[in-house]
Amino acid sequence: MKIGWIGLGNMGVPMASNLLQAGYELYVWNRTPERTVALLEKGAKNTDSLAHLVEICDVLFTMVSDDAAVKEIYTGSQGILSASGVQGKLAVDMSTISPETSRLIAEQSKRVGLRFLDAPVSGSVGPAKEATLVIMAGGEQQDFEEAKPMLDKLGKIALHLGPNGAGTSAKLAINLLLGITVQGVSETILFARSLGIGTEQMLQIISESAVGTPLIRGKAPSILADDYPAAFALKHMTKDLRLAREAGVATPLAESAEASYRHALENGMGDLDLMAILRYLSNQK
Ligand code: NAP
Repeated sequence: MKIGWIGLGNMGVPMASNLLQAGYELYVWNRTPERTVALLEKGAKNTDSLAHLVEICDVLFTMVSDDAAVKEIYTGSQGILSASGVQGKLAVDMSTISPETSRLIAEQSKRVGLRFLDAPVSGSVGPAKEATLVIMAGGEQQDFEEAKPMLDKLGKIALHLGPNGAGTSAKLAINLLLGITVQGVSETILFARSLGIGTEQMLQIISESAVGTPLIRGKAPSILADDYPAAFALKHMTKDLRLAREAGVATPLAESAEASYRHALENGMGDLDLMAILRYLSNQK
């Protein structure tokens, strides 16, 4: 079994590393070739081109930024679907994209005999490294069963939720909660500050309370240092809230969270972690 991994960003690198560590023969490709170095040093194999990788491998994983990137990787002139030897293979797209694009790529894949699963993940770089992601899949049951042993090396749970688009639909729903939660924590900290309660104490109170979560505990060092290197980039959070709106969510908190992240993005914070929304809101005061 040869696995081809496409997309070596913040998430792709640790996820692909876990497949390598599990003993799979792994071939990697990234648009910016320099980003393959970390994997090649660990024993992954290089390919001349995306088409070459598709030709060699039995299963393909894609983990790239957004709808445009997935469309380019699959349906572009040099993309997966125009490579030779694609028939009968399985592709697993783990990017967060719209359910509409997942269904479109699945349909176009089917035409050339490629089986396709949408299988985005919940959990950031830490869970990606620890292989404790939550994986939400859409597609044929038997394709999911075939992918499951590999998905189990990437996450703590992998759920089959229905036909193509079901995985990306569930992902947009859970990320809606993520976006609202991070916005809510930020507003809580700023409100507490305005009443004279220190951030460290407030974080301790939140952590020990019923609403304390691993997310908030994990972001605490960043908040205290006011330093936001991207684990989950704010630009991706903004994209996910936009996708949720386009998929039909129209609730007061969703609308307001999307506007907030979008304004932070427009103010140059897109490449920081989503928790930088706290700095953005603080600067608005
Ligand atoms: P990232 O660090 O920004 O990496 C993006 C990857 O996509 C890079 O490999 C990039 O290649 C590639 N890419 C972008 N546009 C492309 C194109 N047109 N053609 C080919 N490759 C292209 O992103 P990430 O944080 O790994 O996230 C990847 C996906 O997982 C996103 O959909 C994100 O929403 C989702 N996600 C992220 C997290 C997280 O915490 N980071 C958590 C859950 C889900 P280059 O190196 O050439 O730029």
